[in-house]
Amino acid sequence: MVDLPLFGAFTYLSHFDVMAGQRVLVPFGTRQLCGVVVTDIPPEGLDDSQLKQVIQVLDGLPALPAAFMALIRFAASYYHFPFGQTLFTALPTALREPREISLPDERPYALTSAGLAAMPTARQKAKMALWQVLSEHALTLAQARKHTVQASRILAEWLAAGLVERVEACAPPLQLGNSPALNADQQAALDALMATPDGFQPWLLHGITGSGKTEVYLQRIAQSLLAGQQVLVLVPEINLTPQLIDRFTQRFPVSRIAVQHSQLAEGERLKGWLDAWQGKADIVIGTRLSVFTPLPRLGLIVVDEEHDGSFKQQDGLRYHARDLAIWRAHQAAIPIILGSATPSLESVANVAAGRYRQLKLSQRAHGAARLPQIRLIDTRRAKLVEGLSEPVIKAVANRLERREMSLVFINRRGYSPVLACTDCGWTSGCPRCSTRLVLHLMERKLRCHHCGWEEAVPHACPECGAPDIKPLGEGTQRLESALGRLFPTARILRIDRDTTQRKQAWDEIYRKVHAGEVDMLVGTQMLAKGHDFGTLSLVVALNADGGLYSADYRASERLFAQLTQVAGRAGRAEAPGEVLVQTQWPDHPLYQALVAHDFDGFAASLLEERRIAAFPPTVYQALLRADAVELAAATRFLNQIRGQTQELAEGVLISGPAPALLVRLANRERAQLVLESSNRQALHRFLDQLPPLLDTLARQYRGLRWSLDIDPQEM
Ligand code: ADP
Ligand code: ZN
Ligand code: ZN
Repeated sequence: MVDLPLFGAFTYLSHFDVMAGQRVLVPFGTRQLCGVVVTDIPPEGLDDSQLKQVIQVLDGLPALPAAFMALIRFAASYYHFPFGQTLFTALPTALREPREISLPDERPYALTSAGLAAMPTARQKAKMALWQVLSEHALTLAQARKHTVQASRILAEWLAAGLVERVEACAPPLQLGNSPALNADQQAALDALMATPDGFQPWLLHGITGSGKTEVYLQRIAQSLLAGQQVLVLVPEINLTPQLIDRFTQRFPVSRIAVQHSQLAEGERLKGWLDAWQGKADIVIGTRLSVFTPLPRLGLIVVDEEHDGSFKQQDGLRYHARDLAIWRAHQAAIPIILGSATPSLESVANVAAGRYRQLKLSQRAHGAARLPQIRLIDTRRAKLVEGLSEPVIKAVANRLERREMSLVFINRRGYSPVLACTDCGWTSGCPRCSTRLVLHLMERKLRCHHCGWEEAVPHACPECGAPDIKPLGEGTQRLESALGRLFPTARILRIDRDTTQRKQAWDEIYRKVHAGEVDMLVGTQMLAKGHDFGTLSLVVALNADGGLYSADYRASERLFAQLTQVAGRAGRAEAPGEVLVQTQWPDHPLYQALVAHDFDGFAASLLEERRIAAFPPTVYQALLRADAVELAAATRFLNQIRGQTQELAEGVLISGPAPALLVRLANRERAQLVLESSNRQALHRFLDQLPPLLDTLARQYRGLRWSLDIDPQEM
């Protein structure tokens, strides 16, 4: 397998012994590429006269393990992505390139009896310092360097002279840091997890924000470590790992923790990966890509914030790390814990179907901490100053006076302009699907991004005749600067993609927040992740309504999760928090459920809606996307494919082509077909046949690109 967008494998001759999983250097056209051996059994009826030879076996590393290759094989077939590219996506960059990598020799150095007898003189200061420590216990090179910067040179010299030798390291016995006494909910959850330690079992740990889910993971993880197993912990955000790693190192002070995420330096990433593979790391903590890390003694997987959209990769191999983790747990016959305050509807449905077992934490872990009070502010009646209502302005001013920190959350995620009537609540729905039509202002058209339906923009509300219809969720930028004008003395810290790009950005944010240098945090969905901002007593949510009536059917699920998470930032310690949500639709069931902290009721009603509308998780979806310089070409391509495959699509519904929500991106225009079926196998049987047809047809279009997105998260 090579790292090229081609669906097949390539056959080479080899003078060397090779085995599956080994990296090799092979000629490919005019280049030399790194390849990975899939099998050493030649295909039947092979004519080997035309075959090229393997140039070299890159055997500084053992062959990639069979379990790893099986995971890659599954991911490639499930996501209908070339095997070679899937494999290379899963490898750290250093292993994708055609260069030799060897396992570092990290065995400690110990003095031999000759070495013990050869005490350096007091004048040889560096040697003396090192010798004294070595006379007590063995040292790795890294440890020796802490005693003298010349460690590497001295040890090499002593090794050559037979004064030191390399010895096998033995893993230190597990040590546990202090842990709090669990509350009743936590104890019940832990007992259930402990009672069935072996075999495949997915658990959904559904605990409100601050209910102590992490504490439950930690105590269950201790059990696995004690049994000599490795543990994989997936988190949605790179920026959340430092906090979590701190907690892990405090709890497991001598356990070896490897971190895996895309912003690590190449060498660091490789080292963690090799340590995990070689069984030297006990715990791997990482973002979605860490789901591919080979772990020979894997005994438990934890997916924290399992509902989070960032577990899904949005380009290349469009995998969902939570879903692959489930497959992996099944393959390895081990338990997996999915934790969240707002589980995904997929997981809720899996609990209902009896595939997952649910554990609940319904109180906050801190004895005194309570859930925040959530209040809705009806902006149809309130007088607004720069988009802010009087209660919001008052509450913020009040916090400034008391020198308490507040957080202003502005929803901007997945924003697409949908028309709504402020009088009667009418929104522009598609007559053919249960999605909303999106406003295309330039052409004065409303369009469905699911089926392609199109109509003219009405001048008045079709329901009640009121002339006041306008797009939802306008003017977020304006609100941001308005806060600055209304509270000129407030120290405002903005948190969004732009302000958190730099590597040290989060360290700086935490430092400022915890040093009391911030009065107000303002930001978008990044604030809705599990960050610990200390004591916040006020959370304000603006512009949330856009998520109520979005063209994306997942928008309300996300909005509820975000508001719950962001509200959860308030009142984490003793002080109870207050949450204010500005809305035009205070009676909407989503807000009513939010105020009542009723996730279960809301999830049940969403699931029912999805069932009636035949949307996931009731049906399985895939998107076929095409992009070209002009939308017309992409649409024509998709129409042609639709025509060619209509007969093959047994039990599969094809809708579209429709323009993508974001039609124009980087000077290319995008359209899509929605493929869906209530039967997952039927959908995948159909998808299996597509890539060759797509490749062939695409060759007739200049510069056209296509991609398949299985279980798409964003339409
Ligand atoms: P979650 O992961 O559900 O958001 P955490 O595990 O981070 O919750 O717990 C929230 C806070 O409560 C943390 O500061 C944690 O140290 C503390 N905590 C968790 N469990 C307990 C407990 N049983 N007793 C006291 N404090 C606890
Ligand atoms: Zn109306
Ligand atoms: Zn439609």
